[in-house]
Amino acid sequence: MDGFWSQFCTVLESKIGDRDMDAWVRPGLSLEQVAPSLADPHLVRFRTTSRWHHDWIRDNFLAEITWACSEICGRTVTVELVGEGAAAPALPAAPARKAIPTVDRSLVFENFVVGKCNEFAHAAAIAVAESPGRVYNPLFIYGGTGLGKTHLSHAIGNRVEQLHPHLNVCYYGSQQFFEQMVRAIQNKANLQFLEHFRADVDVLILDDIQFLGGRERTEEELFHILEAMQANGKQVVITSDEPPRNLGRLAPRLRTRFEQGLLVDVQPPDVETMMAILAQKAELMRLDIPSDVQYTIAQRVRSSVRELEGVLKRLSALHAFYRAPITLAFLHERMSDVIPPAAPPPTPDRIIARVAEHYHVRVSDILGNRRPANIAWPRQIAMFLTRRVTGLSFPEIGRAFGRDNSTVQYACNKVEEGAERDPNIRAEIEQLERLCRAPVA
Ligand code: ADP
Ligand code: MG
Repeated sequence: MDGFWSQFCTVLESKIGDRDMDAWVRPGLSLEQVAPSLADPHLVRFRTTSRWHHDWIRDNFLAEITWACSEICGRTVTVELVGEGAAAPALPAAPARKAIPTVDRSLVFENFVVGKCNEFAHAAAIAVAESPGRVYNPLFIYGGTGLGKTHLSHAIGNRVEQLHPHLNVCYYGSQQFFEQMVRAIQNKANLQFLEHFRADVDVLILDDIQFLGGRERTEEELFHILEAMQANGKQVVITSDEPPRNLGRLAPRLRTRFEQGLLVDVQPPDVETMMAILAQKAELMRLDIPSDVQYTIAQRVRSSVRELEGVLKRLSALHAFYRAPITLAFLHERMSDVIPPAAPPPTPDRIIARVAEHYHVRVSDILGNRRPANIAWPRQIAMFLTRRVTGLSFPEIGRAFGRDNSTVQYACNKVEEGAERDPNIRAEIEQLERLCRAPVA
């Protein structure tokens, strides 16, 4: 039984993630019976530790639990949850009217650098801040980490408070929102929670919505909240690392609701914008950085502004410690780990070659038009990895593969779905990705 339990935890965690495992499954479940024997089971019975855990696990994770048990047993099993145990421990009550989480005052439009990568998102954010609830509702900002989504959403909140002091702005990270919601549901206070948003909040900012995916009851409540707020002309601002269509785990009607607003994205900054951001941050930090060093850093640190900030902090500390001026030589000497001499970036050709080699097919097969499964899958993987490793656009990848961009998009989605579903595929992709990223021998 111990063996089954630990296998179960591993498999289930690959599906639902460690946060839900630690929050719900490990404290909430124990294995009662795998019957009639491990070799031929058709029933797996778990005991729940409280009514609260029982209901939550049943409503949110039963399908995943059944899947995990079936995976381990190698056949479809029935899962039973028994026992409700003691009553749930009391948690603090639902949020009081005063406890509205407010926004970080330092994140404002004035210190947000605008470039091609974010100008549309920035313009939409300003429009929303000027006329909350009246222009784009919801405003949905998406893009990779460290590219300014949280900054922009706070800037909206701060500008609203400045222009419309009578309006209440409420900011939630999705984890925070989730916890409040869980408390409200637990205390059967979800109606009050909803009412709280409808009555007390004029602008609701929900940051990093992607973490809510798969939490059905939270999503359901969120749907009602959005509906009530929009019906009352209240503004909703949402951020996510992916556009709604890629949030596969999110309830479809919630996705549809997001898509009814305005979707705007933030892209990684080009070198010029990165340099402008760098100059602004350096000035705030009172760091004197000559332009060749600025250029080198902006060129090498391309993935996110957060990474850039990390580099600057480190540079500032090293500069203070060694009391040496910041020059290119200093940079290479003291920060070679952060900014190594540039390696040539992986090209689509190299990725195709590595994938072909891995699957024992020819490069010409991947670039050709034949469609048997043993070629179609490596071809899709190669497109997916090209996208992930090089960051090229769909049309650019399409050109490299001699296909149109919708084919590339389809392939990327398909591989992503496969990885989401199947831990083996995920592992395979990770291994291949490392191969593709490794420098040429
Ligand atoms: P995200 O929420 O997209 O992960 P953040 O908004 O937290 O990213 O941004 C990461 C850091 O980079 C923050 O300190 C933010 O102030 C800064 N930042 C991001 N974009 C810009 C920008 N365009 N101008 C100035 N600072 C930026
Ligand atoms: Mg953020």
